Amino acid sequence: MTPCDCCGSGEWQPLFSENGIQLGKCPTCDLHSIEHIPDNAARMTEMEEGHYAGGDLSILDADKQITMEKVMTSMFQRYVDIAKPLVPGGTWFDIGCGAGLLIGLAQKAGYAGEGLELNADRRAAAIHQTGVTVHAEPVEGLALLDNSYDVISLINVFSHLTSPTETLTELKRILKPDGILIMATGEMTDGVAKNHVFNWNLGDHLYFLGDRTIDAYAERLGYEVVEHRRAWLPDEMFSKEWLTVKGRDPKKNAIKTAIRLTPGGLKLLRAVMLRRQADSKAHSGIFALRPIK
Ligand SMILES: [Zn+2]
Repeated sequence: MTPCDCCGSGEWQPLFSENGIQLGKCPTCDLHSIEHIPDNAARMTEMEEGHYAGGDLSILDADKQITMEKVMTSMFQRYVDIAKPLVPGGTWFDIGCGAGLLIGLAQKAGYAGEGLELNADRRAAAIHQTGVTVHAEPVEGLALLDNSYDVISLINVFSHLTSPTETLTELKRILKPDGILIMATGEMTDGVAKNHVFNWNLGDHLYFLGDRTIDAYAERLGYEVVEHRRAWLPDEMFSKEWLTVKGRDPKKNAIKTAIRLTPGGLKLLRAVMLRRQADSKAHSGIFALRPIK
């Protein structure tokens, strides 16, 4: 077992397993993690090749990724809307930028864009779509200058990092003193159960935040939490377009098709999902963090 990335505790309480991979949490800071965190070299190979956790799940190819991102535009726009009043302009660096949709929205809002994407197909798509620099290496290896960026975004990336502490420390260094880190990732409330999430993708996802985790990271690494909200599913999740887009999970795709072909299926899906969400202890947490320098 790996010591807790957030607080260093050697204690770890098992919760449940999926596909033979055990998820547990730290009793001190509530960081949820899988039992054995892979080393960085192994992760990099998986990311570059585009498959995870022994090859069961492939990541989406770039065309599907572009379609998926377009359907989710209003979700990405949220991040721009949170950042804009805090840091109205400057350079927006999106880490794990996929096919570049968020960079495009930041550009429209007046920011100069920059990206980082480890997957080659998505990186090519992001460069093609935005025309900005998109780095191909993990941020820790880029030797970027101190105090360079006004906004850095880390959207659905935290859970894939082998050491969030290392990455968040590096981001603090390259952020300007009045800059902002926008982060979105899974956040679990005490008592979360396996059935609160349709597919945990453990092995691909290594970490989730718990109730106290973001505050513990902020205190330890020197950030101020200026925004902490929980996101609800956007309306696009209940559109015909969303049901038409094929994701990477074949079971989920089959369910989407069945709903799309059932009269009244969308309405039913919305009712079921909202009900599930109200009872669920799994959320998407959205944060704005300011470095204390
Ligand atoms: Zn901990």
